[in-house]
Amino acid sequence: MPRFSGKTVIITGSSNGIGRSAALLFAQEGANVTITGRNSDRLQETKQQILISGIPEIGVNAVVADVTTSEGQDELIKTTLEKFGKIDILVNNAGAAHSDPTGALASDQGLDVYHKNMQLNIQSVVEMTRKVKPYLIKSKGEIVNVSSIAGGPHAQPDFPYYSMAKAALDQYTRAVAIDLIQYGVRVNSVSPGVVATGFAGAMGLEDQASKKFYEYLSSERKAIPAMVAGTAEDIAWIILFLADRKMSSYIIGQSIVADGGTTLVLGIDFKEAMQ
Ligand code: NDP
Repeated sequence: MPRFSGKTVIITGSSNGIGRSAALLFAQEGANVTITGRNSDRLQETKQQILISGIPEIGVNAVVADVTTSEGQDELIKTTLEKFGKIDILVNNAGAAHSDPTGALASDQGLDVYHKNMQLNIQSVVEMTRKVKPYLIKSKGEIVNVSSIAGGPHAQPDFPYYSMAKAALDQYTRAVAIDLIQYGVRVNSVSPGVVATGFAGAMGLEDQASKKFYEYLSSERKAIPAMVAGTAEDIAWIILFLADRKMSSYIIGQSIVADGGTTLVLGIDFKEAMQ
């Protein structure tokens, strides 16, 4: 029997990128999936990919919604319960780095940019977690958050608010994990590095510029020691691992870094310096 047979999963931000890949894998591994995003064409594309892979339509609940709104969140939960009767796994994946249109650095970036980043990358996660909690307690389920290495200790002057939101998300993961484990609910997260998805496009780059962005980073050993951008599937498999009670039952409140080595390098070449 597939390992997520009989499980119901809500994956936010599944109209593209990592969320789409995770939705496809969960469905292929037997789960009923609620997929969602604001863009209905892209959401349909996710649904089609799932159906083409042989999953019956009855196992897919596609909801066009903005996860930063209370109505959007309620719609996701209501339709999931109506269609599948329960919720076993919540993947808080929707996210984006909203940049400052003026190109200003950290101390000059506006509060509108701050609020947009916070609303999407942390507040919506807090709200979804609070709303889904009773159903996860009932099912003794799991939460997997999608954070970022941007939330780590390196300074991010171009995207301070996105990085602050992800750092807050890491602390939220830890705090809620300790709270919810008393009810048998596990909470963990994954922190990707550079992954080639719609992420750069959502930052405002055109397709060609987006491609160049990922190519440039992959060509720099100091940026990505593995010299390759991650794929959505690389991260999706980690999401499934953390959602799988058999595979990861003793992991509580942790974040798995998947970044091709990015966070391990300081950019100092001692050999060169000592010549
Ligand atoms: P994509 O842009 O490919 O996907 C982002 C998803 O989030 C889309 O489905 C988008 O859907 C959805 N989304 C964005 N805003 C909203 C909103 N207001 N309401 C509902 N859905 C929304 O990027 P990724 O797949 O790369 O991003 C997934 C997660 O991974 C994010 O949390 C991101 O921060 C994180 N991450 C990504 C990295 C990367 O290099 N790609 C690196 C580190 C972390 P729609 O536009 O249809 O609303």
